[in-house]
Amino acid sequence: VNAPPTIRSILEMAAATWPERDYVVYEDERVTFKGMMRAVQHFAKVLRETYGIEKGDRVAIIMRNYPQWPVAFFAACSIGAIATPMNSWWTGDELEYGLSFAGVKLAVVDGQIYERMREHMKKLPELEHVIIARDKGEDHADPRVKGLETYIGDANSWGELDDIGLPAVEIGPEDDATIMYTSGTTGKPKGALATNRAVISNMFNSSTCQARMLLRRGEAIPEPDPNEQKATLLAIPFFHATGSFAILIPSMLRGDKIVAMYKWDAGEALPIIEREKITAVGGVPAIAWQLLEHPDRDKYDLSSIQAISYGGAPSAPELVSTIKKRFPDAAPGNGWGMTETCATATLNIGEDYVNRPSSAGAPPGAVELKICDPDGNTMPAGEVGELWCKSPSNCKRYWNRPEATAETFRDGWVVTGDLARIDEEGFLFLVDRAKDMLIRGGENIYCIEVESALYDHPAVMDAAVVGIPHKVLGEEVGAVVQLKPGKTVTQDELRAHVAGILAAFKVPVEIQFQDEPLPRNANGKILKPELRSRFTARA
Ligand code: ATP
Ligand code: MG
Repeated sequence: VNAPPTIRSILEMAAATWPERDYVVYEDERVTFKGMMRAVQHFAKVLRETYGIEKGDRVAIIMRNYPQWPVAFFAACSIGAIATPMNSWWTGDELEYGLSFAGVKLAVVDGQIYERMREHMKKLPELEHVIIARDKGEDHADPRVKGLETYIGDANSWGELDDIGLPAVEIGPEDDATIMYTSGTTGKPKGALATNRAVISNMFNSSTCQARMLLRRGEAIPEPDPNEQKATLLAIPFFHATGSFAILIPSMLRGDKIVAMYKWDAGEALPIIEREKITAVGGVPAIAWQLLEHPDRDKYDLSSIQAISYGGAPSAPELVSTIKKRFPDAAPGNGWGMTETCATATLNIGEDYVNRPSSAGAPPGAVELKICDPDGNTMPAGEVGELWCKSPSNCKRYWNRPEATAETFRDGWVVTGDLARIDEEGFLFLVDRAKDMLIRGGENIYCIEVESALYDHPAVMDAAVVGIPHKVLGEEVGAVVQLKPGKTVTQDELRAHVAGILAAFKVPVEIQFQDEPLPRNANGKILKPELRSRFTARA
């Protein structure tokens, strides 16, 4: 078949190749590739014929990691609508922002989300319909609200739906496919618009990085075994670029299985890994740590795990050696990417990662990176500056934000806002966010550098560095640290440890300890503004 590269055609290919394989598993619900395809066909027809959704209309998907998430996502993409996932942790106000910002016409939500957005419906005139995916919608008084089950039934029966084909809609690779919201770490979340080609081309980035690592080492790329099915534990939400672009979509390429969780919990993940023979655990560094440190870890058979990879946030170099120690046969991986690059742009994997534990990898074939000074001039290898990324997976622009678009999308490059350096061999080292470093008496201090020094102490489980306002110096270094269970260390001991690694001016003047995990958003990023507010300004 000579189908254009679109999300729709990849789904058709996967459903035709592996109809009976499990694709999405959620608790006791198992959806095969065929079941997914049938549910998508039926819901796509409903979207077009019952609700009049046309090419370019925005369809929001806002729910937990239920199997209905990909149904709504693929149905929207399959009729040329722009799938617009939103954070299912958002409050009513945030949902209102996301829905009105993208001018969403129809939203597919779960019951919880509906309760949260209910009051806001009157302020959303463009929102014509709400479909509740996991709770029959008929009881709701608002005539705009319907239940998804009435159209496609429950997940275990999707394979029995009639094969009605997808609605006839011409979709090309340059057609808009998705609007993904950024995490909102540096301001309000921005909706990044991606074409079908951008999303599809991201499928190859991780595997190209792996192939390149093997070739560099003079090793052969293993032939894929057509009978082996890989299984990814989805520990992160579908609604972030990583969940959908780096896991949901690439799994169609090889007929892999995804086991979704309602919410990440290391204790609940362990029996799932054993039962579903999970081969890959993906997410953010905190997830890997929690798994490695879990007291019940040895009670389960975790030998199926072949890869533990993460990205999206800085990770301690020590994480790699810990993975190697506990899972000697698994390949650790650290990837860099952003919503604007449709997830993974680089991946440091296996031996390369072991040898360079603080690098996020070298870019695969089609991705180009450069480091620039503030005027956009390329800087020599090894120097720290702002990272620029050119890739077929780059988004086109932000939705409705011409100024931010002009700042970030320049001549095919994404200007990332990340400070980084690239070594002679092309390996990327993230230094910090351009806006997130602190300046103490004119000296730049990269938070990540101090965080790494803190992580280096054996008692430290998690650490975050923020600026404390200071009258004279501008800012001083503050840190919040979570200790490993049963471990202790005093502020002075930990400061002495950092002083053994870094210059004195980088040593935190105040370290706060806490037993609970550090506050993070749903994507595993530390909420630094919240931490900053815990320190009192110094004179
Ligand atoms: P916003 O753009 O709304 O402020 P955000 O940048 O956190 O939020 P995302 O697109 O989810 O939103 O995250 C991308 C950012 O995550 C990158 O720009 C980078 O700062 C960080 N990041 C991604 N991968 C890594 C990594 N491997 N190591 C360190 N930081 C990373
Ligand atoms: Mg960003």
